[in-house]
Amino acid sequence: MPEPYRRRRRRRRDGPAVPLLLGAVLLCLTAAVVWVLLRDRGPEAEDVPVPEYVEKDYLTVNPYSRPGDALEEINGVVIHYVGNPGTTAHANRNYFASLASGRENTYASSHFIVGLDGEVIQCVPLTEIAYASNTRNGDTVSIEVCHPDETGEFSPVTYDRTVELTAWLCREFKLDPETDVIRHYDVTGKECPRYYVEHPEAWDAFRADVASEMERQKEAEKNS
Ligand SMILES: [Zn+2]
Repeated sequence: MPEPYRRRRRRRRDGPAVPLLLGAVLLCLTAAVVWVLLRDRGPEAEDVPVPEYVEKDYLTVNPYSRPGDALEEINGVVIHYVGNPGTTAHANRNYFASLASGRENTYASSHFIVGLDGEVIQCVPLTEIAYASNTRNGDTVSIEVCHPDETGEFSPVTYDRTVELTAWLCREFKLDPETDVIRHYDVTGKECPRYYVEHPEAWDAFRADVASEMERQKEAEKNS
């Protein structure tokens, strides 16, 4: 039967079938890539590598302190004080963990806690939201800072570490310390972090220190 054979040959020579097929494959590939980029990033999503001084001690996923919801974008860093003088980063991390029982019916956590000796514990991955900053939980990273006394002023070693961590976050997520580093107070009017609410000039100095630290880190990276 020569007739169908001839027809097939003719169509192939005119050739719209091959570009059509290629187009369909490309469309499928594009759709797949878009799907991968847009889909919800849950607790399984790959975390961002953090500086070596950060100790990862994640909370287990639970409704009260680590809901496991994706942090879709990072538009800022929110600074807090723990409000409990003399407590360590470890103690505050364990407090967040204890909320999982639900007995206190309290929703609270933070991505990072900077301790009295400048140690840093990460409680929640940067791919997930923490319960720290109210309406800004969905697009910010939170840092709780330990402090020795009621004034809420950070000790020098804790201050320096908080500046270092904040600068790293600003570089990592392309944030401007002038506008994107904020206090809990700037979200809700809550007196947090107390000393830096009561002393706005100390808060301005903090953000300026973050900006200089970003420059220092950039230089250090260049020379390493
Ligand atoms: Zn706060």
